[in-house]
Amino acid sequence: MPIFLIGNLSVFGYITSAMPQTPESSIKRNRVNVRRPDVMELVTAEVAKHYKSSIVERLRDLHGELVIGNTTLRLAQEFGFCYGVERAIDLAYASRKVFPDNRIFLIGEIIHNPEVNRQLVDMGIVSLPWQELSADYDNLTAEDVVIVPAFGAPTAFMDKIDAKGCYIVDTTCGDVMKVWRRVRSYAKDGITSIIHGKAGHEETRATASRAMGENGQGHYLIILTLAHTDYVCRYIQGQGNREEFLATFAEAMSPGFDPDVHLTRVGVANQTTMLKSETEEIQQRIKTSITARDGHAENFQMFDTICGATQERQDALFDMLRKPMDVLFVVGGYNSSNTTHLVEIGEQSLPTFFIRNAECLKSLEEIVHYDLHEKKEITSSYPQFLLGEAPAVIGVTAGASCPNNLIEDTIVKAFLMRGISLEQIQAALS
Ligand code: SF4
Repeated sequence: MPIFLIGNLSVFGYITSAMPQTPESSIKRNRVNVRRPDVMELVTAEVAKHYKSSIVERLRDLHGELVIGNTTLRLAQEFGFCYGVERAIDLAYASRKVFPDNRIFLIGEIIHNPEVNRQLVDMGIVSLPWQELSADYDNLTAEDVVIVPAFGAPTAFMDKIDAKGCYIVDTTCGDVMKVWRRVRSYAKDGITSIIHGKAGHEETRATASRAMGENGQGHYLIILTLAHTDYVCRYIQGQGNREEFLATFAEAMSPGFDPDVHLTRVGVANQTTMLKSETEEIQQRIKTSITARDGHAENFQMFDTICGATQERQDALFDMLRKPMDVLFVVGGYNSSNTTHLVEIGEQSLPTFFIRNAECLKSLEEIVHYDLHEKKEITSSYPQFLLGEAPAVIGVTAGASCPNNLIEDTIVKAFLMRGISLEQIQAALS
């Protein structure tokens, strides 16, 4: 492995020799490893300063339950930052330290959390558009550093920054790469990938680009809902209208996708942060329709690619919901897929509010939150009894992109709304 010298720092990496249409696995990109022990020591201290919370850590020690007077606060057993997000943030912080004088860019957002993204902006890390390869990418130089977010980036973006010779700090989560391996192998075998995910989500766009295979000849179809699934299943069984199908999935299929050809052999994969029960239902319905058409399931494959962290957070919430609670606050970025699914799970059992941070909790009569159904932030009030003396149980959880300091703020604010001070909280935790 060659060694680059950057100032007086030695950085291990690979020399770039990208060529268009080169199989991604064989490209030696100009990747740099910024994880040096001296750098990581500084990074760990800085990340802790920005995002750690002693209250949350203490509450975790207490198995997530704190009772003060007539108020019980319950925190899910698994919540907040996942390993992939922690790694991505560490690497982004480390990039600034290893390259103090270079321009540093980031493809889109490192994760879906405004607080974390604001910290990176403060470090002078500039976000590049992720929806399309804009002119900003043409202006990159070999001296620039480009950070690839935890969701990964489409192959065209990787080829572009590679061709520019930029230093690449790739924070793509290993669980996302697992999905890429699967859809690439579908493409190699001539199997169309049906991806359960959001067509406009960064991770799904990155995965879709890999589903086209190393020669670009593979195909994919992205479906989000059970209604989409049923529509596709009807087509598989010969009940669809081709023109309508093409119009319905215009933004969610590979170029040249022909439903009469490319639904013959299919393999299901999913965005790592989807709702597991829904993904399983989608797999089952597609398998049933292929079997009904062919008389066997040989033309169907599936692979559960929900990541462990997403699953643990969903399972922990289901566990928490076994005991009665009065209200649930789910903290996270509104564009965070895994957080959205926690809200969906909560909503089935009790009043659930999807909040950005504690500032959304103005009072129990004025809660600013994202409404998944109206797809916008709204303000709601909460039943009066929480304002009174009657016992109340408040649940809190957070998505994989939410730092502990924001969870702490929410916990403190929830107690304050019940008339319990920070001093009382600290005393109860000591
Ligand atoms: S949510 Fe899952 S896939 Fe996404 S970064 Fe975290 S561990 Fe990786």
